[in-house]
Amino acid sequence: MFLGYVDQIERVDNMFYIVFDVVSEHQLKKLLEDPVSAKQINLSDAYSTFCLMLKVHKWSDVPALQREIEIDRWYKIEINDSESNLVNAIRYDDMNSNNGVDVNVQIYFLDKRVNSTKNIYHLFSLNDFPKSNENELTNLLTQNRFASKTFLAVYNVGQGNCSAVCNSLNSSPIVYYDFGGGCYSNAHTYPSGQQYCFTNNPPIVLSHWDNDHWSSANHLRSPWAKNYPWIVPDQPLNATQLKFASELAFLGNLYIWPRISTLKLIRTGYGAFFYCDGTSKNDSGLGFLYSSEQEDIRALLPGDAAYKYINSRFKNDLSSIVASHHGGNRRLDPPPFARSTQSNTNIVYPYGLHNSYGHPGVLRFGEHVHFGWNKDIHTYKGHVGLGISSLPPIGCSTNYCDLRIVQI
Ligand SMILES: [Zn+2]
Ligand SMILES: [Zn+2]
Repeated sequence: MFLGYVDQIERVDNMFYIVFDVVSEHQLKKLLEDPVSAKQINLSDAYSTFCLMLKVHKWSDVPALQREIEIDRWYKIEINDSESNLVNAIRYDDMNSNNGVDVNVQIYFLDKRVNSTKNIYHLFSLNDFPKSNENELTNLLTQNRFASKTFLAVYNVGQGNCSAVCNSLNSSPIVYYDFGGGCYSNAHTYPSGQQYCFTNNPPIVLSHWDNDHWSSANHLRSPWAKNYPWIVPDQPLNATQLKFASELAFLGNLYIWPRISTLKLIRTGYGAFFYCDGTSKNDSGLGFLYSSEQEDIRALLPGDAAYKYINSRFKNDLSSIVASHHGGNRRLDPPPFARSTQSNTNIVYPYGLHNSYGHPGVLRFGEHVHFGWNKDIHTYKGHVGLGISSLPPIGCSTNYCDLRIVQI
């Protein structure tokens, strides 16, 4: 038996795509007996995980399930290849490869009121890890990292997010906002051999824990990213994410931003980071408003959060926006209006071409023009720079990284 956490439910052309992060129940036995002590050790080798993608036309295609599958919940999963009456799914074992194998699965509902289920939710959370305070986080985000002139970079990482505030003199990141990229069914969208820059010892702020927002730090891509401080939102985790969090904690680089009730926002010389106020993983992470008075730019980076969960003070007078959720389809969530006094208002779509979710969604795509966004920029065509009037120089001439900006 396996345990699976629902990472994503996406509707594409009348099909539901349900993405689980899965772990063997057997491998968790000891950890579940004592979820508090489990956080004292490095869990990166404690168990293995894989990704499972179900495609169903309607919920009744999943037999014996008492109710609709919900996002951010745990389920019991049986994988049995000899039983053909089960639901077909694709299993991806390697985050860096879209080579999946067909399997037959059955999904079972887990009652949250039962103690054994409570232990699962307790284990896969940031409970029991120490939280950071406002001073500590503010210092990380501002100390020794002021550049006189900055711009905002939105990188091409395929189907995922990675952006940074950069020093205009040499394009070196001062702080990263997300460090993800295409993984599992979208691993093919990741640009090959992509190298990052850590010249300024940049901290990395994580918008939310979904794998496509931190996966560039995995063992085959940029594992040294774990040697820098990660500022993360306090959210429930899946099994893959707990391994990653535990590794960061072990390295002394896990800085947990306490819950929204304790700390709502942090202002820096280049903008503000803040909690979004929804409840799902996408909607309850950290947003970023980049602003620079010299260049007169105000850019909203919502991560995957719906715009309606972003406080209105971060949504006015915007000159640029990075489309939420890779431009994925979301009904009833209009984007903010663009600044009306500016001729070029940029909307950046961060996604990989031919991704498995059909992002950016057809409805949303083109819809932004009604809100004053008149310049579409697509990250799959190359790294994007905002808040600059010409392509910036790159300090290492791409000898050590591939962060050269090619679109402005
Ligand atoms: Zn995402
Ligand atoms: Zn997400």
